[in-house]
Amino acid sequence: MQILKFGGTSVGSPERMRRVGELIDDGLPKIVVLSAVSGTTNKLVELGELIRKQQIEAASIKLAALREEYRVFVNELLPTEPFQDRGHAVVRGIFDEMEQLLWVNRFESSHEKWILAQGEVISTNLFQIYMELIERPSVLLSALDFMRIDEHGEPDLEWIQRRLELLLSQQHPLATYFITQGYICRNAADEVDNLQRGGSDYSATLIGAAIRAEEIQIWTDIDGIHNNDPRIVENTWPIRQVSYREAAELAYFGAKILHPTCVIPAEDRQVPIVLKNTFEPKSPGTLISNASSNRTITAIAAKDGITAIKIQSGRMLHAYGFLRRVFEVFEQFRTPIDMITTSEVSVSLTIDSDKHLPEIIRSLELFGDVSVDKNQSIICIVGDALSAHTEVTKHIFSALESIPLRMVSYGGSNNNISILVNQDAKNAALRSLHKHLFQNTNTTLSVNF
Ligand code: ADP
Ligand code: ASP
Ligand code: MG
Repeated sequence: MQILKFGGTSVGSPERMRRVGELIDDGLPKIVVLSAVSGTTNKLVELGELIRKQQIEAASIKLAALREEYRVFVNELLPTEPFQDRGHAVVRGIFDEMEQLLWVNRFESSHEKWILAQGEVISTNLFQIYMELIERPSVLLSALDFMRIDEHGEPDLEWIQRRLELLLSQQHPLATYFITQGYICRNAADEVDNLQRGGSDYSATLIGAAIRAEEIQIWTDIDGIHNNDPRIVENTWPIRQVSYREAAELAYFGAKILHPTCVIPAEDRQVPIVLKNTFEPKSPGTLISNASSNRTITAIAAKDGITAIKIQSGRMLHAYGFLRRVFEVFEQFRTPIDMITTSEVSVSLTIDSDKHLPEIIRSLELFGDVSVDKNQSIICIVGDALSAHTEVTKHIFSALESIPLRMVSYGGSNNNISILVNQDAKNAALRSLHKHLFQNTNTTLSVNF
């Protein structure tokens, strides 16, 4: 069984959605995971915020505009009766329910999450009706029947596997194409929830891992993982093959093409991931698998919204157990640490979530002076045997000579060098690193593909 996931741009218009119908149509059984139509989730986020703030008139206008967008979408995607009627009925039902939420007495976070889920519910319903229109056998599987996160927001793979096996084993005589929603799930309280923004990739890899699929294909709007962020840097190019480790690091450290943790389930169960471009389906894309490459440097990525925390304390001098106590604070508040550097009397570390920052600071102040720098970016250089090549650091530091570096993490792994800079300096740092590491003809580092 193959898993094919199509992102927001790939289903972003009736024409694109029809194209997805063609791309999947090889007669082989598969699970097709769809995102919301591009732009919809952002609009639903805004809608939820407006209702939460009780700005009902603005919310009502936003809702009406989105309803109208989908009315046009349905007319174009499903030009014939009775399919068009069915499309309109689905959209009407969902928008009527959303409208009722404008008037509830207490608008809860569970309502807001329910709203966020509707983008994927609409796209999958419309696509499934379209598959019927073109007479292709298909079944809609509701992700809410098998995708689940636990009380810590972590996917429950055992549950997902059990439920999926059950659902897939039920008699679907005509079912060749199983269509389901990315991103959405149920939580431990059985409410509708989600796998965080960009989470449809994660849905696809969780499904692929759960049923031990032969391959997970992630179809998007670019020809695979590029060696730097193409939104910021010119002349980037796609990498044909990366290892799970490299892909996981790139995703975690900001390569938006993949959800930050979506590589993990695929790696755990050794299911290859292929990234493909819906606009150029013949282009090879990127294969993520166990195979390692002989490259020194694979790619550069950057993650914004980082907070650096420094704890300074004389008590660190020759002390043991100090770092353990510091780490325990982060454990207590379930906040992962990304980077860490230490000196004799101080330790600096970074976190990407400020959810518990005030409590963390209060607890750390028991150990010494605490200072906080917000709006930082981690720049991550990913490759293989990085520290074996003495040239690497030379080029990194000369690329960044005019940029103040807040922290440098080197040697923690042979696959990653991370550097913390102020968010304002990120673009310049990415561009300069690209020039020095990938476009410098005087080095042997930039062997790619
Ligand atoms: P989808 O909606 O299909 O999930 P996304 O917008 O989430 O697509 O991800 C694809 C986008 O990721 C690309 O259009 C590109 O701008 C951006 N991107 C950021 N970093 C990279 C990278 N290293 N390689 C490829 N794309 C990247
Ligand atoms: N629709 C969701 C988002 O925009 C999930 C996804 O597209 O992966 O974040
Ligand atoms: Mg995405």
